[in-house]
Amino acid sequence: MLTLSLKPGRDRRIRQGHPWVFAGEVQQLPDPETNGDLFQLRDARGQFLGVGFSNTRSNILLRLLSRKPDEAIDREFLRRRLQEAIALRRRLVRDTEAMRLVHAEADGLPGLVVDQYGRFLVIQLVALGMEVRRADIVALLAEMVQPEGIYERSDVPVRALEGLEPTAGVVFGAAPPEGLVVREGIYRFRVDLVAGQKTGFFLDQRPNRAFVGALAQSLSPGARVLNAFCYTGGFGIPAATGGAEVLNVDVSEEAIAVGRQNAELNGVADRCRWEAANAFDRLRSLEKEGERFDLIVLDPPAFTKSKESVAGAIRGYKEINLRAMRLLQPGGLLVTSSCSHHIDAPTFVSVLQQAAMDNRQTLQQLALRGAGMDHPVLPGAPETSYLKCFIGTVR
Ligand code: SAH
Repeated sequence: MLTLSLKPGRDRRIRQGHPWVFAGEVQQLPDPETNGDLFQLRDARGQFLGVGFSNTRSNILLRLLSRKPDEAIDREFLRRRLQEAIALRRRLVRDTEAMRLVHAEADGLPGLVVDQYGRFLVIQLVALGMEVRRADIVALLAEMVQPEGIYERSDVPVRALEGLEPTAGVVFGAAPPEGLVVREGIYRFRVDLVAGQKTGFFLDQRPNRAFVGALAQSLSPGARVLNAFCYTGGFGIPAATGGAEVLNVDVSEEAIAVGRQNAELNGVADRCRWEAANAFDRLRSLEKEGERFDLIVLDPPAFTKSKESVAGAIRGYKEINLRAMRLLQPGGLLVTSSCSHHIDAPTFVSVLQQAAMDNRQTLQQLALRGAGMDHPVLPGAPETSYLKCFIGTVR
């Protein structure tokens, strides 16, 4: 097998559990002809660290697959890793038809995401090393899960960082039907695997949606809820099911249209209002109009995808949260999320605290949650932890 050697002192992060080697960390870059091939990784003294696949076109030169010197990386390896990941979900993630089966690096399968939506799977390949193993992955998933169809959603900008073209389409069996509905707990959601955001639904927020459903039970009937950045009503439906009147706001007309259908599906259409608007503007105008809410949910998209734009993202988070805090009734609850990788939980909470201070309010934290157990985190790789969901009040 080919070998990559680290520069002196560059093995520390790897030894602490991080699965990536960056281009500047090796003594000599490999021949681009070998992109996607397996390499043994060694430290500057020649000690074995692991085996991974390389890509000289990416800033992430090597992604580790195994740290065992005698583990063969073949089809059987892929089968074992997929089996482990799926078995974990079958044991721990119950009462839902939609879940993430494979969460890339965090499941030991770098660059591979597999989501299940009932009888259909969606895959996403964002590393060249996975791209070249696509046929095996699709065949193994078809055999192990026996879905009606597998749809690929590799139409994401990060593919470009690996020198890969965006691609999407059916890779096995039938195309996902229009109007596919999945059950999640007591709720039903229509999901569009072909044109929806992410792979169709924001699966990572599942336990937080259920949590909001439970919080809504504590509100008096007719309580008012604002669900900003609502997408297809993931948080709005649980809130309305608890008896509240919910105003759902999203900039996407398509998302709102599906949201309306979801409200019908769940028998809460009469308690849901839907507005296609920019949430930044709408938060401001609601304040001017003197509107107040008993529960506000904010779940914006990642405001930053790079370290360079963190400052702007922080301003964005501060702005919407400051507005939301002013819109709360006394005793009202704020459920506010951030999915930006480059903003960690302590940073996010301190932004919320600053927003409250600017309002001369005291922020009280009640809970700080993350993604569901189908989105595991590698403590050795902070990049795998991204979702923060803060629940609190202001006085
Ligand atoms: N809470 C949802 C997921 C929200 S994803 C769920 O649980 O399913 C973020 C949403 O914010 C997307 O639907 C996107 O269309 C919307 N969005 C992005 N920028 C926006 C803006 N400026 N104003 C309103 N909505 C916006």
